[in-house]
Amino acid sequence: MNDSHPAKSAGRRPAHGRSGTRRNAGDESLAEYRRRRDFSRTAEPGGTGSPPDSAPRFVVQIHDASSLHFDFRLEADGVLKSWAVPRGPSTDPRDKRLAVPTEDHPLAYRDFEGVIAPGEYGAGTVIIWDEGAWRPERDGSVTEALAHGHLTFRLDGRKLHGGYALTRFRRRAWLLVKRNDRHADGRGTPDPVRARSTRTGRTLRQTAHSASRPGHA
Ligand code: MN
Repeated sequence: MNDSHPAKSAGRRPAHGRSGTRRNAGDESLAEYRRRRDFSRTAEPGGTGSPPDSAPRFVVQIHDASSLHFDFRLEADGVLKSWAVPRGPSTDPRDKRLAVPTEDHPLAYRDFEGVIAPGEYGAGTVIIWDEGAWRPERDGSVTEALAHGHLTFRLDGRKLHGGYALTRFRRRAWLLVKRNDRHADGRGTPDPVRARSTRTGRTLRQTAHSASRPGHA
């Protein structure tokens, strides 16, 4: 939080002026955007009411490739920063899960569920195990934090919640660890073979089967 943020002086704001209007945090940065537009004439979003649509997303996919693994992806700077997590993210802070960085993926990849054809890179079945919004715990560039080898963040997913940290310990090896907060528990990670897609409720096997059925895309 910036010390000069106007919200800091909210307690002693003047008795007149704009003080009668309730303002959300997002209103400040969207003021210019709105000032330039007539929302009775444009279909563009005004951005009022609900939280901003632009909250960065995360996705955890389960990928039955040459080895079964989870793919953990965080939206940052217009791409999905990605790690392969062999045993998957755990809800138990005592679990230090190996996370091997993989190439940045396009944002649209967070919607991918299905079968990568035999012979193609990453051939095998993918399901979307969890998804939601995420945010870094600290201000500043996510890319820069990752370059320094440490990122703490919060997940607000369908399955995963609360604080996590990604920490590099070797050039190509990171650890993904749950923070000990009220969302921590001893459940760990479900069996990926039995785990179900958060979108379709299907297992890997059911997803592979439905993809290979005649008449189904
Ligand atoms: Mn993968």
